[in-house]
Amino acid sequence: MKDKSTVYVDLHVHSTASDGSFSPREVVIKAKSRGLQAIALTDHDTVDGLEEALAAGKEVGLEVIPGIEISAEHEPGSMHILGYFIDFRNRRLAERLQVLQRARAERNPQIIAKLRRLGIDITLEEVAAVSGSGQMGRPHIARVLLNKGYVADLHEAFERYIGNSGPAYVRKFRFPPQEAIGLINDSGGVASLAHPFTLQYSSIQHFKMILGQLRDWGLVGLEVYYPEHSADMQETFIRLAEEWGLLCTGGSDFHGANKPGIELGQVRQQRFMTYKLVEKLKAKLGRKI
Ligand code: AMP
Ligand code: FE
Ligand code: FE
Ligand code: ZN
Repeated sequence: MKDKSTVYVDLHVHSTASDGSFSPREVVIKAKSRGLQAIALTDHDTVDGLEEALAAGKEVGLEVIPGIEISAEHEPGSMHILGYFIDFRNRRLAERLQVLQRARAERNPQIIAKLRRLGIDITLEEVAAVSGSGQMGRPHIARVLLNKGYVADLHEAFERYIGNSGPAYVRKFRFPPQEAIGLINDSGGVASLAHPFTLQYSSIQHFKMILGQLRDWGLVGLEVYYPEHSADMQETFIRLAEEWGLLCTGGSDFHGANKPGIELGQVRQQRFMTYKLVEKLKAKLGRKI
């Protein structure tokens, strides 16, 4: 980190509870040792890592914001909704997330079957061994393909086989955006649109329309600071956030070894990633309750 006098935050982090390579506890210890002041653990479609992360945060003196990243229905790109300060023990949230877990449990064997039909020797047991105790998904399938020499890196696994236009792709069940945002709000949290560029909108005008709709459904933030956002994109997103009255959020989308080259706390423009972002989110929270 360049400026030692400023402490930074990372509001988009994954652990082994979804598809990161470090356990929730390891992520927290790593964040602390990198000098971060707060992180949000935002595993895909699960809150299973939060208890461990919060306990570790208390232990080492790092603020851990209970979060989640929920995949929502969207074409042609992908839409992920981040939730912050959720009550992760909320019963309804747990029930709805169960629906997503069950859909995953059905989808993984379908992907494996497609790969096997393509002549690849891969089993569900091998993928389960790689995913450990966390939820299983395509990154773990990619890891097995890599380990067995079918691809040279994880990216190739998606390009050649299991990516959205690959021959072994199987669609994942998702909630409509309105439900994903509602679920976060109903469990006491605030929602922010993750890495907006993955929506693959046709124009900024089109994106503005989507954003306005999401805001009407209760979105309060836009993930402006992100490793893959150029300075220009960042400027555009800041402007749109202002226009729609949304808060700016940011994070590295750290996945450890499962997303090489991305460090905890790392975005394009570090200087904006201060605790101010968290304070603003907290203020929104206060107004909601
Ligand atoms: P799943 O939830 O099982 O559909 O897996 C989605 C996850 O796969 C994403 O969150 C990323 O971590 C990873 N992923 C998706 N596309 C790619 C890609 N092209 N290269 C590497 N990882 C990817
Ligand atoms: Fe991921
Ligand atoms: Fe995401
Ligand atoms: Zn993510």
